[in-house]
Amino acid sequence: MTCFTYRNGQLYAEDVALQDITRAHGTPCYVYSRAGLEANWRAFDQAFAGHDHLVCFAVKANSNLAVLNLLARLGSGFDVVSGGELERVLAAGGDARKVVFSGVGKREDEMQRAIEAGILCFNVESEAELQRLNRVAGKMRRRAPVALRVNPDVDARTHPYISTGLSSSKFGIPIADAPRLYAEAKIMAHVEIVGVDCHIGSQITEVEPFVDALSRVLDLVDELSKQGIVLRHIDTGGGVGIAYRGEQPPTPERYAAALLDLVQRRLHGRALTLLIEPGRAIAGDAGLLLTRVEYLKQIGAKHFAVVDAAMNDLMRPALYDAYHAIQPVRQQSGATEVYEVVGPVCETSDFLGHERALRIAEGDLLAIMDAGAYGMSMSSNYNTRARAAEVIVDGAKMHLAREREQISALFASERSLP
Ligand SMILES: *Cc1c(COP(=O)(O)O)cnc(C)c1O
Repeated sequence: MTCFTYRNGQLYAEDVALQDITRAHGTPCYVYSRAGLEANWRAFDQAFAGHDHLVCFAVKANSNLAVLNLLARLGSGFDVVSGGELERVLAAGGDARKVVFSGVGKREDEMQRAIEAGILCFNVESEAELQRLNRVAGKMRRRAPVALRVNPDVDARTHPYISTGLSSSKFGIPIADAPRLYAEAKIMAHVEIVGVDCHIGSQITEVEPFVDALSRVLDLVDELSKQGIVLRHIDTGGGVGIAYRGEQPPTPERYAAALLDLVQRRLHGRALTLLIEPGRAIAGDAGLLLTRVEYLKQIGAKHFAVVDAAMNDLMRPALYDAYHAIQPVRQQSGATEVYEVVGPVCETSDFLGHERALRIAEGDLLAIMDAGAYGMSMSSNYNTRARAAEVIVDGAKMHLAREREQISALFASERSLP
């Protein structure tokens, strides 16, 4: 999906010039394309159309209410990892019956609220959590729907910080322990087994790890059915990567074809719904971060472009050494200089890009590309910096989806001693 294109040397989001967005809403500013978000969601939905399925957008990738609302209108389900994310989905008009709740540390109050709301499934990550969920549901005289998140012990071959499917990670239940825990769950009075879940990591650029993981999950499904445990769904998690820098991740079509091929060969017509939890692949390339060049400075041989966005706005470069393309909002001809593009935060890790060839002057606008996922949702107020505005472009219209934070609001809830 190409939602951001140059016209006469000016970068546009759909039919809106990015420069006009900064005139109205300032910088730093996240900009998302409605068409981009919807096309990415639909690509997954259509790729699985031949099989009973539900696309559950991973809310942690982008939790803006307007973004969630657009996806809810398409019929999306949601994968949440906290009570806070559940409240966002409900506030955005999402259907609780299409919500799965993942995460290794669910609190009792979060479980209670999710049961009350009537979610589709808890993705349970440990025996202790299973027992706690049974107790919490029991107090409410309810049965909590559960899938066990199993760890298939496959190497997703991605960045170690976003790889979750190896047996050394904190996530999930070792797949070898799963039959015992399913048997335990089966005799619990207040949980109802509905599925099985796995999620092996993020920014995965090959299909093989997904296929390996699903294949092991299907072995488990067979074993469980021998024990008389029949599941309604298999959740294969998220993790499909995007092209930050020329990577060639599987398209939704190729990803779906690989999974469906395996499912059809292995399930022999048994009816099992497939759930998928893409986050990055839906929101990532549908968003960018607009920033203005504050200063150009040279230290020795190094040229720095100090911009008004920083690691508090977009943490991925500082956290994972992640690469984001940086493009000028107005293309200019002539010689370029190689810059370290850095923010104002007092940390050496506060950079947005290393060694970028740009032709820029003070006051120019830059677009940090592919920032729609894990951008705003990971932002903080470090250095008491107000968080950026968020704008959604819809054709020729721009919609302010979140106002820029007020500085006074940052400390309004703090209290000095008497
Ligand atoms: C983060 C996460 C996802 C989404 O991952 P993406 O790489 O953004 O697709 C899905 N499921 C779970 C359990 C996650 O933790």
